[in-house]
Amino acid sequence: MIALVHPCRAMPARLLVGLAMTCGAAVATPEGTPCPGLDIRVEAPAPLATLACQAAQRAASRLERCGLAQQRPLTIRVDEELGKGHEFCAAIYDCATATITLPPPDGLDTPSIGPGFDAIPPEERFDTLLLHEMTHAVVDQSAGDRVPGLAHEYLAYSFQIDGLSPEARAAFLAAQSGPATGEIDKVNETIFFFAPAVFAANAYLHFAAPGNGCALAERIVTGDRDLPPVFRLEPARR
Ligand SMILES: [Zn+2]
Repeated sequence: MIALVHPCRAMPARLLVGLAMTCGAAVATPEGTPCPGLDIRVEAPAPLATLACQAAQRAASRLERCGLAQQRPLTIRVDEELGKGHEFCAAIYDCATATITLPPPDGLDTPSIGPGFDAIPPEERFDTLLLHEMTHAVVDQSAGDRVPGLAHEYLAYSFQIDGLSPEARAAFLAAQSGPATGEIDKVNETIFFFAPAVFAANAYLHFAAPGNGCALAERIVTGDRDLPPVFRLEPARR
């Protein structure tokens, strides 16, 4: 979404399947709170750090089910001020510092990021916003500059909406008044910039179609040249 800015990109912008892991008692350190079982540290007060670690574990497991594994350490920073009065910044993945910054569950100004997000319970919204940014992080670590910005957003939004409960996802999709059809030609820059929630809905519906999903994600990350242009860099840009 236009609200999710990725400073390293021209566009503002892997395996314990099903293994339930919970974060143990978090111990704050000057460098942040380490998330048990993950190469991730969280900079946040203790209750929020535990919440973020648990959300990060769920996000990592979801991405790993598609073969997308974190390659290098990440920092997650929960910023009370982010999402309030930042019209174009709901959450950030900064690949230069490998840091994800996002607001706490009750800190996101949902009307500013598009219709449907207010239909998602705050903690679920926090979970899936982190999943969105962790998708950027893991894809960036796995593929570097091989994946264009719009394909990054396609994957990040697809996982974000896929990560919702069926009830929240149905409410989000029903809230879209734009052409959310899942057609590939609706995954474009115009809809991304002017109707990011509709872009999210279209991306998810396309991703969820038979034959896409994890198989498509793998082809995007490996730079499959037979994919539609939106998912790959043109030769001149490589
Ligand atoms: Zn994004």
